[in-house]
Amino acid sequence: LHRGKTALVTGSSSGIGKAIAEAFAAEGANVVLNGLVKPGEEDALVQEFESKYDGKFGFSGANLTDPEAIEGLISYAARDFGGVDILVNNAGVQHVSPIEDFPVAKWDLIISLNLSAAFHTTRMCMKPMKEKGWGRIVNTASAHALVASPYKAAYVAAKHGIAGLTKVVALEGAQHGVRCNAICPGYVHTPLVDAQIADTAKARGITEDEVKQNVLLAAQPTKEFVTAVQVGAMAVFLTSPAGDQINGALMQMDGGWVAQ
Ligand code: NAD
Repeated sequence: LHRGKTALVTGSSSGIGKAIAEAFAAEGANVVLNGLVKPGEEDALVQEFESKYDGKFGFSGANLTDPEAIEGLISYAARDFGGVDILVNNAGVQHVSPIEDFPVAKWDLIISLNLSAAFHTTRMCMKPMKEKGWGRIVNTASAHALVASPYKAAYVAAKHGIAGLTKVVALEGAQHGVRCNAICPGYVHTPLVDAQIADTAKARGITEDEVKQNVLLAAQPTKEFVTAVQVGAMAVFLTSPAGDQINGALMQMDGGWVAQ
C-alpha cells in the first residue's frame, strides 16, 4: 500500500508507536523511528525493522520537547528519506496527580510533548505535503481527547488540544490532498499504562489489581484492553484510499467507553 512512501512515527521505540511503525513497515513504507532510548538500543531497533521488513529504516533520538530538536528530526527525514509523506504524532507521557499537587514541571512537559510537539512537526511538514499534493497526518489522541478522568489535568488538556489541532489541520489541508485525523484509544496495555497503574493506586489508595479492574477497565464496557496492533491497523486504514474522505475525525477505539 505504501511502498516508496516515508512514514515518520514519533515515540515509536515502544508501545503504540512501535506497533504503528510496524504496521506501516508491513505495507512497504520506509519509516523514520523516534523515541528516547538508552545508548545502543537505537541500532537494535533499526536492525529489528530491517530484519523483518523490506523498506528503509532510520532512527532519530530527537527530544520532542525541544522545537530545535524537532527541526533536526524533520531535516533528517528530508535529507535521508526525501521527506515525510505520512506523519504520525504519537509520542506522549502521562502523569497522575490531584491538581492541587500537580507538579508544574510535569504540566509543562506534558503540554510540550503531547500537544506542542505535534504543532511543530505539522507546521514543518505541511508545506512540502501541500506542494506534493499528498500527505497524511495521524495523531494518537486518546479517549481523554473526548472525555475526562480525575487526576489527569495535563494529559486531558493536551489531548483535548490535539483534537482541536486535528480539526484545524484537516480544514487547512482539505483542498491540497492532505488529511489529518486522530485515533482515540481507550486503555492499551503498554509501558505507559503500567506506570499509570502504580501511580493511580497511590493517588487513590487502592491496590494495583483494583486499579486495573475498577478504574481502567471500569471505563471500558468490553472489559478488554485495546491492543497496540489494532491501533496500528487503524492508522494504516486512515492513510489508505478507503480513508480518503475521512478528515478531521476523532476515531474512537475504546470498547464503548465514550458511548456511555
Ligand atoms: P509508551 O511509554 O510505550 O511510549 C511512549 C513513546 O514516546 C516511547 O517511544 C518514548 O521513547 C517516546 N517519548 C517519550 N518522551 C519523549 C520525548 N521527550 N521525545 C521523544 N519521544 C519521547 O506509551 P504508549 O502507551 O505507547 O503511548 C503512545 C501514545 O499513545 C501517547 O501519546 C499516549 O498518550 C497515547 N495513548 C496511550 C494509551 C494507553 O492506554 N497506553 C491510550 C490512549 C492514548
